[in-house]
Amino acid sequence: MKPMPTSTPKSTTVLSREEVAKIYRRPLLELVFEAAQIHRAHHENYDVQCSSLLNIKSGSCPEDCTYCSQSAHNDTSLESEPLMELDAVVRAAKNAQKNGADRFCMGAAWRGVADNKEFDQVIDMVKEVKSLGLETCATLGLMNEEQAHKLKEAGLDYYNHNLDTSRDYYDKVITTRTYDDRLDTLSAVRAAGLKTCCGGILGLGESEDDRINLLHELHSLETVPESVPINALVPIEGTPLETTEPLAWDQMVRCVATARILMPQSKVRLSAGRKSMTDEGQTLCFLAGANSIFLGDKLLTTDNATVTDDTQLFDKLGLKPIVSACETTFTV
Ligand code: SF4
Repeated sequence: MKPMPTSTPKSTTVLSREEVAKIYRRPLLELVFEAAQIHRAHHENYDVQCSSLLNIKSGSCPEDCTYCSQSAHNDTSLESEPLMELDAVVRAAKNAQKNGADRFCMGAAWRGVADNKEFDQVIDMVKEVKSLGLETCATLGLMNEEQAHKLKEAGLDYYNHNLDTSRDYYDKVITTRTYDDRLDTLSAVRAAGLKTCCGGILGLGESEDDRINLLHELHSLETVPESVPINALVPIEGTPLETTEPLAWDQMVRCVATARILMPQSKVRLSAGRKSMTDEGQTLCFLAGANSIFLGDKLLTTDNATVTDDTQLFDKLGLKPIVSACETTFTV
């Protein structure tokens, strides 16, 4: 057995932006080969952590994220839904656990957390999901340290808060909050002792330099995120990005491989956009160090690979889901 990663992996040496660019732009096979070696030095070769994500409150979000179907600024067909009832969330968590998830993430389309009855309801959800033996994660938008402490006391393990893209490109994607707002929330989450899940979305129209800058930013955080989701844009009708050209397949592989090299102990998660990747493209990403996925047919409001597709691919590649204490039906 390889040593388990520490709960708060540190960047040992912080590389300069130019050094990160050099890694990112290596010949692809050389890059994947090095990432695979680093992956094998820090993780069990074939283990993949499986998370499940539930949208506990949908739509009517005041933020103007150009990629998102839930923004009130975008004219999409998404129906808004109020905060889910506790029982329904617990049922969904049990179902995810049965399907093989060991982490359950609850997402609310809010600008941020408010100290109100709804936040108390989310606290109850965290307590109940944690009591099932699942790792817990939440993504609720901006948050202060006191609120982060409340979530930590309730049993929250991870807080998801993506940087999305580079600092330079950020205001082309979102104008209702700043990059520093995001970093402030990440600091509050850390101060409360929570682990962070923080990555980005590729294919928003950003340049390769922006992708390199995002990876450099993540690598330079005082404590690097324990989970690093790498998403590819899923263009949604009614959003400003609906006609955006798909990301070139090698860019996804380069980002995964570079993230693995820069953050050797973190879980690197192949996230949104996986459904439109080929099996071959996903295989290269797993070889390059991706060791986490979202399980389930839906990722918030976009389609995801089915559990059946994932079971077949895992079987073919010899990958194994990290199994929680519970019984699962995800068999490989
Ligand atoms: S990504 Fe999150 S914050 Fe942005 S509009 Fe969608 S739900 Fe709101």
